[in-house]
Amino acid sequence: MFQALKGETVLKKKSLSELKNSKPFYAFDIVLYLAVAAFTVLSFVFVLANGNKGDSQGFFVLYENVVVAEYYYSDGNLIVKDEYAAHFKTDGEKVRFYPDKNDLNDYNDIVIDKTNKTVSIADATCAGKDCTTQKVSASGGFIYCAPHALKIVPTGLTDPVSG
Ligand SMILES: [Zn+2]
Repeated sequence: MFQALKGETVLKKKSLSELKNSKPFYAFDIVLYLAVAAFTVLSFVFVLANGNKGDSQGFFVLYENVVVAEYYYSDGNLIVKDEYAAHFKTDGEKVRFYPDKNDLNDYNDIVIDKTNKTVSIADATCAGKDCTTQKVSASGGFIYCAPHALKIVPTGLTDPVSG
């Protein structure tokens, strides 16, 4: 029994000296593990940051390829350029857009859902009414009413004029 204990002690001493000898390799392993862990965490943060960047906080309204109005969901007000003010009229929850400010029979009814961060065309007088099937949300989308030269694009995702 005494001998067995002694044997164990010797073994432990031996393994301890092995540990000491291999210390630089352990240190290297720890550095490697830390580097991998740091890379993983940074990758995750990068993806998260990019995800947030990808969310649009509002939209631009373009008429004849010129930005005439902008809207931010956090703000809740459609900001219209002065010289285009006559093209817009607020009607309850809708914003009515007149491509020809002197012809009130032609229009697009823009509906903004502030909570869900979407914008769509509820009604329009254009031929085909393709624009009424389109939608812009925080993650993207595009509204284009060709007959009325009206475009609605999300902010932050693309250059509004070049598309
Ligand atoms: Zn249309």
